Amino acid sequence: MSGIVYLVGAGPGAPDLLTLRAARLLAEADIVFHDALVHPATIALAERAEKIAVGKRCGKHSTAQRFINKRLIDAAKLHRVVVRLKGGDPMLFGRAQEEIAALEAAGVRYEVVPGVTAALAASAELGISLTQRGVARSIAFATPRAAEGEPPSDWAQSIAAADAGAIYMGVGQAEQIAAALIAAGKPPTTPIAIVESASLAESRRVFATLASLPRLANQFSGPAVILIGPQYRARAQTVRNSAVEEDSAPAPRRRAQSNTD
Ligand code: SAH
Repeated sequence: MSGIVYLVGAGPGAPDLLTLRAARLLAEADIVFHDALVHPATIALAERAEKIAVGKRCGKHSTAQRFINKRLIDAAKLHRVVVRLKGGDPMLFGRAQEEIAALEAAGVRYEVVPGVTAALAASAELGISLTQRGVARSIAFATPRAAEGEPPSDWAQSIAAADAGAIYMGVGQAEQIAAALIAAGKPPTTPIAIVESASLAESRRVFATLASLPRLANQFSGPAVILIGPQYRARAQTVRNSAVEEDSAPAPRRRAQSNTD
């Protein structure tokens, strides 16, 4: 038996943000390997499949990537439809390339099914477009998080050079992020928004400035994106004046910070 491995985007959280193709593949799946943060109702769509959590969470033991690669290859020898279900879109901070390389090396067929990435779900949540005519014509997607031994990246420079930025896996390193962006030339007054658990009922957001990022970010314990750019300015001012910045704080810890990369 030589099955196909589908790398499927599960979207940002809400099960009904899944694509129809993803839902069909889940229904057909013989076996599903899913990330820790995928919504249980999404996983439940794989009615007949064996379901295996291989997900990663900050501070918790995660299944080593090499081991996941091997399990996908082994599963393709035994099953017709193998689904690797990843949060958001598999091709953005999802380590899809490492799985694709392993599948190609083993001669296993694969297909990628896109999903709604967190920055887009966060923009929907805010009602503020990532790009805006005359305001933001470029956007940099970046993460400060690097695996051990990874060469350094100029992620802060790329955000400073773009009109707007979306930072993934960043709330745990807010102090370094603010310092790096200010060093790269972004003024401390640059408007930002933090959106946690976009698309889910428990979603929270705060508008602020780069200078206050370190103070605000440690109030978020769920998966959150940091958005940076002039389009968040109007709200940043409103929030400062009305002191919502302080009020919108901190709910108890809910979920582990996602750590997919
Ligand atoms: N491939 C995923 C990203 C995985 S990296 C995607 O395309 O969205 C994990 C990071 O994604 C988290 O640390 C957080 O920065 C972000 N994230 C994932 N789900 C989120 C959500 N519902 N709301 C806000 N940020 C989220």
